[in-house]
Amino acid sequence: MTLAALYEVRDNIALITLNSPPVNGLGLALRSAILQGFRQATKDDAVQGIVLASSGQIFCGGADITEFSRPELAMADPFLPAIIDEIERSQKLVVAAINGMALGGGLELALAADYRISDASAKLGLPEVHLGILPGGGGTQRLPRLIGAQLATEMIVSGTPISAQKSLAAGLIDRIGEGNLLDDALAYIHALIDSNAALRDCNEIRVDTSELPANFFADFRQSIARKTHGFFAPERCIQCVEAAIELPLAEGLKREQALFAECLNTPQARAQQHLFFAERAATKIPDVDSKTPIREVNNVAIIGSGTMGGGIAMNFMNVGIPVVMLDLNGEALERGIEVIRKNYEVSASKGKLTAEQVEQRLNLLSGTTEYDALGDVDLVIEAVFEKMDVKRAVFKTLDEVCKPGCILASNTSTLNIDEIAAVTHRPQDVLGLHFFSPANVMRLLEIVRCEKTNDDVLVTCIKLAQKIKKVPVVVGVCYGFVGNRMLEPYVREGMRLLLEGATPIQIDKALTDFGMAMGLCSMGDLAGLDVGYFIREGRRETIAHDKSYCAIADELAKLGRYGQKTARGLYLYAGRDQQEDPEVLEIATRLATELGIERRDITDEEIVERMIFSMINEGAKILEEGKAYRSSDCDLIYANGYGFPWWRGGPMQYADEIGLDVVLSALEKYRQQLGEYGEMWFKPSSLLVKLVADGTQFKHYKVGALALTAHEK
Ligand code: NAD
Repeated sequence: MTLAALYEVRDNIALITLNSPPVNGLGLALRSAILQGFRQATKDDAVQGIVLASSGQIFCGGADITEFSRPELAMADPFLPAIIDEIERSQKLVVAAINGMALGGGLELALAADYRISDASAKLGLPEVHLGILPGGGGTQRLPRLIGAQLATEMIVSGTPISAQKSLAAGLIDRIGEGNLLDDALAYIHALIDSNAALRDCNEIRVDTSELPANFFADFRQSIARKTHGFFAPERCIQCVEAAIELPLAEGLKREQALFAECLNTPQARAQQHLFFAERAATKIPDVDSKTPIREVNNVAIIGSGTMGGGIAMNFMNVGIPVVMLDLNGEALERGIEVIRKNYEVSASKGKLTAEQVEQRLNLLSGTTEYDALGDVDLVIEAVFEKMDVKRAVFKTLDEVCKPGCILASNTSTLNIDEIAAVTHRPQDVLGLHFFSPANVMRLLEIVRCEKTNDDVLVTCIKLAQKIKKVPVVVGVCYGFVGNRMLEPYVREGMRLLLEGATPIQIDKALTDFGMAMGLCSMGDLAGLDVGYFIREGRRETIAHDKSYCAIADELAKLGRYGQKTARGLYLYAGRDQQEDPEVLEIATRLATELGIERRDITDEEIVERMIFSMINEGAKILEEGKAYRSSDCDLIYANGYGFPWWRGGPMQYADEIGLDVVLSALEKYRQQLGEYGEMWFKPSSLLVKLVADGTQFKHYKVGALALTAHEK
């Protein structure tokens, strides 16, 4: 049996080595072993000092995440704060040897030591805020005592770790090791003991506020207000640091515990933890062995050097993978390469990249107008015009020129990839890789699993997505896949509400008050009303049964009012400055009369319910049809790709949180209230009805396998 922590005595120094792979998560077994080792060392008169170290790649990653859903274990004795307190009071000198990382509870444990030494590449931080909570193991009280209130506040509220060098300068660590960290730590503790170095107990240390700027906390609150709007924990983190200044350690720790408990029971904490686990769950495909051997992807070809092609290429160049970009139009190719160069130069001008890094990345890029140049690539991503015949022709050619085993991917937003795959002799190598714009920035990647996609192709692309720092979510083939399909009812309701009497300003404000990063009308104007218009024109026959569908956006697009780019859309623009356009209201009134829609006052509540609940209802249909594996996949897509408030955890989690019965009865209410229109669009999905009847939630509903036969909505 492997021991959670190892204990030995070397030259009168007790060495407690954390030994719980992969990250020394502070689960019950490890906590017990650390405390046992510490007490053994304390009792042993021959032991003069204690070193806390790790046998793995990192010192400690913090709490054991498997205990998140098992509070009976997380809170069980020995409780981390009590261990830290006991170590801090040790009469024997304690040194923490931090290799790799000390995060969360791991850093709090290290703060109990008298001195800290780390390796040069170590990172130290308290990321709890990302999970909607705060450091509950004394971190908010000890960190300010060691490094001052300003940096401590920044670290705790941002959750961002700092480097060993910065830690040394701030006093968070006392030394950076130069050789083998354990040898350095042992030499260090001997030197400390020999020189009678003082024990350092945070009970004896006050927070040094002599250099704290006047009004620091008020200014800090203001500086983060926009970014942290809706989140619960950041403000409590600040209150903890204020307590560290005002109160003795023991009382500050009590305050920290009280504020920690407040955070723990909030919708925000549940939402943030939901997304944390959602990201891990999304890479597991129920019917695919995750150990399936993957294909090597050492070079990539991108077809189409337009908006998407360029952004997609940068993802690979950023991680050192060579890219060949193909466009049939030589001028478009040059333009595309120029845009990439400019993007990198902007990053360099902001200090994010050195000139050398820019050159290194650009050296990985080559351009061609000849398909013959693609004979050697491992992966092709097609990003040409959104037209089926164009895509089919591209894939036919790819099938002829690419080597066997090359993965062929399409970035289509709406087309049936099974149909595209069918023109090749290798549909098993074809899938969708749906990037979001701007593709070099947005983290979301929908991986579209087609009817015949091989398991190893799927697993390879999941791993590759992680390598290029994307959040991959596997979805099935259907119109719009998951993200755009759920967006459709949201857009539809927004546009319909304009006809019924809401204004663009009112709709956008209701949505941003709800927490959306941007309102629908601003989003439409930014993306261009022409984009949706031309897509709809292409499929009029499938949506013609409802004439109110996007009538305003269509009318504006026909008038050449495309949005920001024409300084007129749903709003009037002077630069980026946005104003209500009286003509839009006139058009809305005229269209409403033509369509027999009665205009009335609309409440913000109705706006949010109709737009968000329709989106949730579509999500339920997607699950019911087996086009996503789990509701948390829909949430991941919305939080990462569509500006859905992170602190609400995505639309499906939001529905679970407020109660599926609430969503269901609101849908039924609008179904009745809105007559024929309501009957057409507000019929609840049968899955939602069933889950309410069963008294359960989306999060407990799992789709065993995706429905792999494509279907058009
Ligand atoms: P774009 O018009 O900016 O670029 C398309 C490029 O493809 C052009 O440079 C064109 O010259 C080239 N091209 C056309 N036919 C070609 C062929 N047969 N061979 C080689 N090159 C060819 O288009 P975009 O906005 O980058 O969109 C590309 C794809 O990505 C579409 O399928 C679109 O639906 C999808 N997509 C777009 C977005 C977005 O926000 N723009 C988001 C996700 C997915």
